[in-house]
Amino acid sequence: MDEKILVTRSSMPPFEEYVEEIRSIWETRWLTNSGAKHTELEANLREFLSVSNIALCVNGHQALECILEAFDLQGEVITTPFTFVSTTNAIVRKGLKPVFCDINGEDFTIDADKIESLITEKTCAIVPVHVYGNLCDDEKIEKIAQKYNLKVIYDAAHAFGVRKNGVSSAALGDAAMFSFHATKVFHSVEGGAAVFRDSAMYEKINQLKNFGLSSPETPWYCGGNAKMNEFCAAMGLCNLRHIDAAIASRREAAERYRQRLEKIPGIQLNTVQHGVQSNYAYFPAVIHPEKFGCSRDELAKALARKNIAVRKYFYPLTSSAEYFKGAHPAGETPIAKFISDRILCLPIFEGIGEKTVDRICDAVISEYKG
Ligand SMILES: *Cc1c(COP(=O)(O)O)cnc(C)c1O
Repeated sequence: MDEKILVTRSSMPPFEEYVEEIRSIWETRWLTNSGAKHTELEANLREFLSVSNIALCVNGHQALECILEAFDLQGEVITTPFTFVSTTNAIVRKGLKPVFCDINGEDFTIDADKIESLITEKTCAIVPVHVYGNLCDDEKIEKIAQKYNLKVIYDAAHAFGVRKNGVSSAALGDAAMFSFHATKVFHSVEGGAAVFRDSAMYEKINQLKNFGLSSPETPWYCGGNAKMNEFCAAMGLCNLRHIDAAIASRREAAERYRQRLEKIPGIQLNTVQHGVQSNYAYFPAVIHPEKFGCSRDELAKALARKNIAVRKYFYPLTSSAEYFKGAHPAGETPIAKFISDRILCLPIFEGIGEKTVDRICDAVISEYKG
């Protein structure tokens, strides 16, 4: 049996570099609560993401909950069901009602042309999700938001370092959440960030992530705990030094995949967006069984037999979560349902290499029954 290929693998800095980075923590014994590493990582990310306001958090999910809390939102939020459960759960956990908008079938982001018809007098915000390193149609979304006075909060977990015509993904919308989870393009083991346009929010989010304390003796907001600790910040500092090489390595893999798979009938690859500098976070393929000759699920099983791990991502739609008790039938968002039933993310990570990508492509192509 050939060696197992995982669907993802965390980037790691050289061991010695991390050890050197954490040495000072033994001297200061300052482990969390806005220590030196936290401060330095915030500053470095401010520069890397070209954004003025950024607050580090324990993970992306809590960053999103803090943003939703900070805007004091109430009512309905227009969002996409084609995402990781985190996005929808954050909306529901903050007492908001998600209203699911369909996606477009090319880059799988929210279909901005379908947002307006979902707006009611209760709508307070739009929470779109950038997917796989592609960006949402931010210009259309922004226009709608201005017309109806809605907040735009991006789930940018897949869009770290992505730029559109030079503009950072972190600059889009009123606020955005980034995830620095171990499996993401950039990570701090666990971690995340809230970025936002209005600088007045910085203090509020810093309080919300620290039990809502405005001073050690003043609980101002009813906040939770979403702080990033120093060891995670140190990992982030190290990984950020190597981020360009990490993205370049993913890019080579993505280009090789594209070369090998784009002409195979029944395999639909992710759109390459004009003017967008991607981070190659994932390599999704939509399997159309009538042309490819076998279904997504059959292909996934065949690859598993060859020791290749793949991920049905995003599947199922978040609108089908058990806790909705069937309130959102799949017919609500037919394109999202269609894509979700056919999508398969192939392995991609820093250092995967052409040989491994070729082994995966050979295995995929051998299942083609044209
Ligand atoms: C990873 C991810 C999250 C959650 O981020 P965590 O840092 O794991 O909490 C949310 N949304 C999307 C789209 C993600 O990919």
